[in-house]
Amino acid sequence: RSLYAVDGWGRPYFSVEDSGHLCVKTTDEAQAIDLYEVCLRAQQQGTQLPVLIRFPEIIRGRLHEIQGSFDHAIRSSGYQGVYAGVFPVKCNHDRKVLECVLESGRPYSYGLEVGSKAEMLMAMAMMGSSPGALLICNGYKDAAFMRLAVHCWELGIRAVVVLEQPQELDILLEEAAKSGVQPVIGLRAKLATRHGGHWGTTSGENAKFGLSPRDIVAVVRNLAAVGMADCLQLLHFHIGSQISSLSVVTEAVSEAAYLYAELAHMGADMRFIDCGGGLGVDYDGTASDSHSSLPFTIKDYASGIVCAVQQVCEERGVCAPTIVTESGRALVSHHSVLVFDVISRQGQAAQADSVDADEAAEAEHHVEKAARTEEPSARATPKGQALLQACARVPRSLQPTAESVRDSCMLTLSLRQQALKAFKAGCISLEERASVDESCDAALQHIRGAAAAVHAQLPDDVQLNCRPPVASYHINLSVFRSAPDMWAIQQLFPVMPIHRLDEQPTVPAILADLTCDSDGKIDSFIPAAGAKAPAPTLKLHELTSGEPYLLGMFLTGAYQEIMGSAHNMFGSVNVLTVRSGRCSEDSPAGSSSRSRAGSSGFAGPGYVVEAMEQGESACGVLARARHVRQDMIEAVRAAASAAATEGHMKWGAARSMLS
Ligand code: PLP
Repeated sequence: RSLYAVDGWGRPYFSVEDSGHLCVKTTDEAQAIDLYEVCLRAQQQGTQLPVLIRFPEIIRGRLHEIQGSFDHAIRSSGYQGVYAGVFPVKCNHDRKVLECVLESGRPYSYGLEVGSKAEMLMAMAMMGSSPGALLICNGYKDAAFMRLAVHCWELGIRAVVVLEQPQELDILLEEAAKSGVQPVIGLRAKLATRHGGHWGTTSGENAKFGLSPRDIVAVVRNLAAVGMADCLQLLHFHIGSQISSLSVVTEAVSEAAYLYAELAHMGADMRFIDCGGGLGVDYDGTASDSHSSLPFTIKDYASGIVCAVQQVCEERGVCAPTIVTESGRALVSHHSVLVFDVISRQGQAAQADSVDADEAAEAEHHVEKAARTEEPSARATPKGQALLQACARVPRSLQPTAESVRDSCMLTLSLRQQALKAFKAGCISLEERASVDESCDAALQHIRGAAAAVHAQLPDDVQLNCRPPVASYHINLSVFRSAPDMWAIQQLFPVMPIHRLDEQPTVPAILADLTCDSDGKIDSFIPAAGAKAPAPTLKLHELTSGEPYLLGMFLTGAYQEIMGSAHNMFGSVNVLTVRSGRCSEDSPAGSSSRSRAGSSGFAGPGYVVEAMEQGESACGVLARARHVRQDMIEAVRAAASAAATEGHMKWGAARSMLS
């Protein structure tokens, strides 16, 4: 259990049960849902892995937690304003996710944040049933964008156009004047406060977005000049995502609150302070200030913001604004889990971190055997045989001292290098090179045993080369499609088996995906419980022939689906939407419970799969790249018929290929 630190990153939703399976509890009252069981049943129903499993109830829970934390902070501090959350749709555009956010947030008028015309259209269509909810319009805006905002006001949607550049004001006023509506305007401020994480460049005076103090003053004066200062109602800022320092958050809020107060004093009808996103997720479960973690709670975050705004407003004598936040990552990350299978394993890994005496003896035996080749192959060379003899001497001359361990390691690495050089110069055969490689591996294993026995402090480069060999588990997944941040910004996501958790895993492994890209791998993992630094390997179980081995990747609900690319033409994966619920009787594996779950779903112990959606087909991905299915078929048909005519292929085979 502690190996995968589930209690750190997974609480209160994910836990390891006595069955050895990873289970999901979507609410406090819900029965634990066995993830492995869901996947097996889904496969029996025809849904292949990899599969993205959504738990909308977790979004609801997170939303209640964010809203509840602000409500609590407001009540306990006596703050005079209210909280109004909005969800930035860029985090996850999926219709079901957005419907869940709006539906769960309806009692609180929870709104949306958009940053483009397409997102705006989507929000307009969805917000009709959320009266009173805010629609925050960020991003670069042209006349067409402004016209959409005007339509929102005409429809009674509470849109606020947040100006990112001074010139957007004229465009907005022109479009609003055409329809005679009163615009509601916000300003995005470029704050001086910076944060140091991946998204640190979103903040600071040289940030890409926002208005400088000079721009802000100019916009207010321009509005006042046309008698529309009262249209300015909101001050927005966003200093970046995954902010791992609460003091940076409160410093930014305080800086923004002073700007807010100034705007109120300059005659604007200020009502909202919008603190943007930035609330992070504890991906590695260490509750630390590392980029993958979070050293404070949502409650701390809410009370830090409320207190900072309150203090400045009281000091400057302005009314307490409605506090808006645009939490994306914190709201939806937990709700989806990506499950994929291991297809095969490559490479022999040491079974344990230290090498015992038996293994060392075996390694020595191996090196000697390689050197004692009584019948050298016809392609044996003097250089090759000399290298093999030298390898054989390494274990024999190894002494139980740190110095000897270091020297033996350096010598072994040098022999391997010499073999490579000799091969490149045509002086040794391929078989000899392979034998030297094998002997060097065996010698290193022997040296590792000796190093552990004398507790030798080895130099870093020696330690690196003395590391146990690592197995590669091939996973049925594209990192670029399903977890692009792992590749792009070295984001850590928890990855672990979802079954066999009552067995000790023994194989240190990295994960290699299906793409033919060397970056398509996972070789950095969250630290095991109690550790701090990311781990270079993940401890996995030996594969059992004929048995599935399923891994889950967690906390992937924000950004990953929408940032994923079709690199190597991998399309989006199949999706299951699961909610907790009791079946009248547990349906046996494979049977669907259509009455409860609808025509496309099924049910199992404690859960109902509401929908199974097919991922993108190869045809779909090809069409996106403008390949026309019929043209492709015609091209292959012509090639097959030419091959059959020329006798390279039997006509029967050509016909069956084209049928
Ligand atoms: N608001 C704005 C303007 C953003 O650019 C972003 C993301 O970068 C967010 C909100 C969401 O941030 P987070 O996911 O950290 O909550």
